[in-house]
Amino acid sequence: MNVVTRFPPSPTGYLHIGSLRTALYNYLFAKRHGGRFILRVEDTDRTRYVEGAVESLIRTMDAMGLAYDEGPTLVDGKIVEIGDHGPYVQSERLDLYKTYAQQLIDQGDAYHCFCTKERLTQLRDQQRLAKLPTKYDRACLALNDEEKQARIDAGDDHVVRLKVPEGPITFTDEIRGAVTIDGSEVDDQVLMKTDGFPTYHLAVVVDDHLMGVTHIIRGEEWVSSVPKHVLLYQKLGFPLPSFGHLPLILNPDKSKLSKRQGDVAVEDFLKKGYLPEALLNFVALLGFNPSGDREIYTMQELQEAFDLSRVNKSGAVFDVEKLNWMNGQYIKCLDEEELNKRIAEFAPDIEGDLLKRIVQVEKDRLAVLSEISDRLDMYTQSPAYDAEILVWKKADKEDAIAQLKGVQGVLEGLNEEVFTSLELIEGAVKKYIEDNDLKNGNVLWPLRVALSGEPRSPSPFELLWALGKKESLTRVNHAIESLVS
Ligand code: GLU
Repeated sequence: MNVVTRFPPSPTGYLHIGSLRTALYNYLFAKRHGGRFILRVEDTDRTRYVEGAVESLIRTMDAMGLAYDEGPTLVDGKIVEIGDHGPYVQSERLDLYKTYAQQLIDQGDAYHCFCTKERLTQLRDQQRLAKLPTKYDRACLALNDEEKQARIDAGDDHVVRLKVPEGPITFTDEIRGAVTIDGSEVDDQVLMKTDGFPTYHLAVVVDDHLMGVTHIIRGEEWVSSVPKHVLLYQKLGFPLPSFGHLPLILNPDKSKLSKRQGDVAVEDFLKKGYLPEALLNFVALLGFNPSGDREIYTMQELQEAFDLSRVNKSGAVFDVEKLNWMNGQYIKCLDEEELNKRIAEFAPDIEGDLLKRIVQVEKDRLAVLSEISDRLDMYTQSPAYDAEILVWKKADKEDAIAQLKGVQGVLEGLNEEVFTSLELIEGAVKKYIEDNDLKNGNVLWPLRVALSGEPRSPSPFELLWALGKKESLTRVNHAIESLVS
């Protein structure tokens, strides 16, 4: 079978981290089976229309490296479609939906409904009071053809509803197994709205069919809609695709992941300096684990291992600590040149060579790239501190002064070359300590604090290397002066 998957977000202006997982699973599944992956824009809810949202969506898919085979893309800032099944934006497919809605009406499987909002609200209230299921009562089914036509000709607002028959509707979910629901529990779903746009339900079925989609992988919030879709597939004579509904993504307190508890927009994660590859690895494991306790996987490995039967049924907790750890792992492993390139946007005002050295020193301590901006002051501003902190806990002020003066002499005597190599500078300082029978703590503590101005910081060797000879000596001098005065 030629596998075709799709990711059809509504353009809301940002990509939810849960949608990223959906997109990724669809991507992995298609790749694993040598199939096609489609991006479609579901913009039939005009009340939620957001200017520029499609462009932003395309950019985010691109930034995440989720290349699709068909769908809208950007060329010179303009939306252009690739693929033979377009248009891929639902608002440009209205005629198609109308045709299929008409087919259902002609078959007697759908009908016009002229009921006003007020009547429907009243009906729902009455049903609620009577503890009955809230469903449309099919009042408009009683209208005869002339009555209907007269109201349409008069321009009365109307919708088209699916006539849901009684009897069981069954489908198999690749993740949850067989699901059966009786038609009597399903409302006569609106298919076409008063504004002439289709609802999600009609549009999604028509498009998935016309675009040749074979596997529908999406969040579990859609599982209750499938019976309506199954009916539409049957009534329209379309073959049924496979379905797989992914478990919810939860906050640590097991509530549904929401904006209130922190970031959910992929764009915000990227802005903070999470690496796309780390984000993908992290979301891939929300509900799926290729093997045992291992956490780090390449996209290729995920692709080879991805299988719907191995996706969990129960909710997956979004643990931001784990994401931070994982991102840190990816930062550590990034090639030096690539890391420098990606980090530059978070430190735009720093001279290139200095930034490179800072990055080498700090990279193992970064959870996200943007943290670099908090570390820059240590290297670019003269440290301001209380002279007390220069004194090691097992020594006193006099000792600190003596040790700093000693090491100052050593540093002055080293040529600039030595400062360009972390190993050489470390070797030189250690040799001085050894040759003079000194203790590491007595020398290295005041030296490190003199260079960083902080009680905790990278090692004195890393700081000497990053700051260079001139700046290092200025800082050591300053430390001696502040202890002496
Ligand atoms: N437009 C829907 C959404 O935004 C797509 C649901 C589906 O995948 O069928 O989630």
